[in-house]
Formats: sequence, C-alpha cells, structure tokens
Amino acid sequence: MAKTAVSVFWFRRDLRLEDNIGLYQALQSEFPVIPLFIFDEAILDSLPKDDARVAFIHESLSKINSQLNEIGSSLLIKKGKTLGVWQELITEFDIKEVFFNKDYEPFAINRDEAICQLLETNKSIIYSFKDQVIFEEKEITKADGLPYTVYTPYKNKWLEKFNQLKPVWEYETSELFSNFYKSDFAFPSLEQIGFVKSSIKVKPFTLNNLENYQETRDFPAVDSTSYLSPHLRFGTVSIRKMVNFAAKTNDTFLSELIWREFFMQILFHFPKVVTQNFKSDYDGIQWRNNEEDFKRWCSGNTGYPMVDAGMRQLNETGYMHNRVRMVVASFLCKHLLIQWQWGEAYFAEKLLDYDLSANVGNWQWAAGTGCDAAPYFRVFNPDIQLKKFDEKGIYIRKWIPEFDLGYGQPVVDHAMARDRAVATYKAGILK
Ligand SMILES: Cc1cc2nc3c(=O)[nH]c(=O)nc-3n(C[C@H](O)[C@H](O)[C@H](O)COP(=O)(O)OP(=O)(O)OC[C@H]3O[C@@H](n4cnc5c(N)ncnc54)[C@H](O)[C@@H]3O)c2cc1C
Repeated sequence: MAKTAVSVFWFRRDLRLEDNIGLYQALQSEFPVIPLFIFDEAILDSLPKDDARVAFIHESLSKINSQLNEIGSSLLIKKGKTLGVWQELITEFDIKEVFFNKDYEPFAINRDEAICQLLETNKSIIYSFKDQVIFEEKEITKADGLPYTVYTPYKNKWLEKFNQLKPVWEYETSELFSNFYKSDFAFPSLEQIGFVKSSIKVKPFTLNNLENYQETRDFPAVDSTSYLSPHLRFGTVSIRKMVNFAAKTNDTFLSELIWREFFMQILFHFPKVVTQNFKSDYDGIQWRNNEEDFKRWCSGNTGYPMVDAGMRQLNETGYMHNRVRMVVASFLCKHLLIQWQWGEAYFAEKLLDYDLSANVGNWQWAAGTGCDAAPYFRVFNPDIQLKKFDEKGIYIRKWIPEFDLGYGQPVVDHAMARDRAVATYKAGILK
C-alpha cells in the first residue's frame, strides 16, 4: 500500500499551538501536517517516576490534543529513542517535510544533527526556526563579531536591535488549522509513559502584579514575580508575546527576560560551561566538597534560616524565589566551599523551571567562576540578606515551622567561613 505523503511538525520546547513559528510554517505546507511529540527515553530513563516536569509536559500535550480533537486531528505521541522513533515513522509515512523549532543545548544540537542526517537520506526536506528567543546564536555580537560575555553591553545591543523591530511579530496559526492531518491517534496516559501523577504542580503564570516589580521582586514573602520560568522552559507561552508585553509595561521585567537570552547565547558560544568554569583561571580552587555539609544544605538544615527556607521551598514545591536562589548558591560555594557543579545538579533534579543555560549561568555567577560573575571576595551574609529581604521573617516561618521554637546550630560560623572562602579563592585563582 502506498504510504501517505505528509509533513511533520515536531514539538519539543514549544508546547503550544498559538504563536509558534515552526508550526505556522509547517501549516503552510502543501501536505497535511502530523503534529508529533516524542518522549525521549534518553532523557526519561534517568528521571524518577514521580517527576512533576514530565507530568507538566503530559498535561500541556493533553491540552494541545484536545484543541486538535476539535478540528478532527490529534497529536502523535511516541516514546523511545528519538532516532529509533524517526526510523519507525519513515516506514509508516512518506515524510516529505519536517519542521521544528531550534534548541540550543549541546545534547539537543547533537540529537538534531543525527535526526537530520537520517531524514536527509530519506529525502525529507528539513526546516528549522528560531522560536525560543528573540535573538539567537550570532545575532547579538560585538562589533568584531565575537560574543558578548558581559551582560550590560549585551543588553544594550539587544535593546537597540529590538527597538528597530518592536513589537516583534506574533504568528497567527488558527486560520491554518485545516491543514492538520486528520487523525485519531491514541493519547497515552502518564502511567503508560511510565510516570505517576505528581503532588508538585507548575503554577500558572501571572502578569497582573508587575506594577511594582522593580521594588518588590527581591522580597520572597511578597508574591510579586511572574512564575513564567517553567512556561518559558517548555514553551507553553510564547517569548514574543511576553517580550512585547514587557516592552510596553516594565523595563526591569524586560531586563530579566534579556538575562535569559544572555545565558542562552553564552551556552551556545561556550558549551564547555555545562561542566567547566567559564573562567579557567578559577580551576585551581581547592573545594572542600564535604558530603555531610552537602546533605545538610540539600535538606535545608544548615542552621541559616534564609538558606534552609529556600532549600525547603525547593524540595516541597520545585520552585525557589530568585533572591533566595542567589543566597543558597553563594552559601554552598563560598561558606561550604562545595563546587558549583554539585549545587547545579541538585537544582537540575528539583527545579520545575530547570533550564541548562540559566542554571549553569546563574550557578557560575554565584560561584564567581562565570562570565560577568559576582567577584570572589563578595560573600553574602545570609543573616544580613534575611534582615534586608525578609525582615519580619514571614518567608522563613512559612518554610521552617519550628523556627520560633529555637533554631539549630549553624553548620559553619559566618565570619570564619567568609575568611576561609576569600583565602581559598585567592590561593586557587591562577595568575
Ligand atoms: C543559582 C540559580 C539557579 C537558577 N536556575 C534557573 C533555572 O534553572 N531556570 C530558570 O528559568 N531560571 C533560573 N534561575 C533564574 C531565576 O531565579 C528564575 O528564572 C526566576 O526565579 C523564576 O521565577 P519567575 O518566573 O517568577 O521570575 P520573574 O522575576 O518573573 O522573571 C521573569 C523571567 O525572566 C527570566 N529570568 C529572571 N531572572 C533570570 C536570571 N537570573 N537568569 C535567567 N533568566 C532569568 C526567567 O525566564 C523568568 O521566568 C536561577 C537563578 C539562580 C540564582
């Protein structure tokens, strides 16, 4: 039997039908479009069965599938190794064209290269698009063509370019929906994919309380940030819509979205940062890497309330307020002299918004090893941070109910740890 000629749109970090460039382009194809998602075993096999991020992906796909069902179509969901899945798809369909949005992580770049090779031998035409960011790869560079490694000049150039485009184009896909392949593919349950429902949930984002964002965003007890991060991570919302909104309403908020792109381009240009110090002259630091201290940090039992509240918030909800992330990260690297890679890996396991570029970028910032990082001699005092940003102790009491009953012994004395950190960094930085 002759195979059906189709185009395929491959969903990855862009789990929405609205304002999705790759999908918009796919739906202009002369062939009906199969919307595909692959649960990649190369990623899933290393995760616990209860992983709130997998549950969120499943929930987001289910929403897309319901929208597609209304127009007589459905998502094709596959589970397996991506290359194997594509080999299987090639035998089932005559795949004329494949569309996807680019992903800039080293693992994804390698995966996509392998898939593209396979598709090329199959004579499928491949189209890939920029969707996850406003500016990608080499679009924002210095006059000499080299990447920026300092945020402020990067941001200035970003804004200069953005102001020429403003507002950035948003893609209206709904008028093209009749070009989806008519189908009734079975939609698997979370259990069929090998996972269970999680007690931790991704919160919806909000743009309603950004009025005083610049004044309130540093105070963890004030719920004044957007909670956009997991939505941007999985693409359940479009960055173009968010940036257009931010440009109209709040410059500080726009700056945060630019930080996200800054770290994405750092990862793209310097993929070594995933495991190695951006500044290699910091390679000589003698970390203590004490396992007992690390356990106390992970479980939120360091005796420093700001640190412990943050770690408990992370463990219970998969989220931690940005100010507190900075405090706990600095504490791990400087007070405990544990290398940033340990903390980065723990965050990667727990954060709902875990994103390789932002996580590595911010951890290296806190450790002092990154580009445009906090200087090594700046050691946050967790108690001063508490007084400044949670003066009434509202945040810490929320996460440490036993706080008023007399709180535990600090794992290290602050003054000793500060001096030790400065001396260790100084001795370890290669001249
Ligand atoms: C040690 C450490 C690790 C981090 N790991 C991650 C991570 O894995 N994933 C992640 O998305 N963010 C990470 N961040 C950045 C930041 O903490 C979160 O993006 C933010 O707290 C998410 O909450 P929000 O969406 O309410 O933020 P808002 O304050 O509402 O900010 C809006 C958006 O701007 C972006 N943004 C804000 N701050 C930063 C930043 N410093 N770097 C990059 N993007 C930023 C995010 O996309 C965020 O959703 C980390 C920060 C630190 C200090």
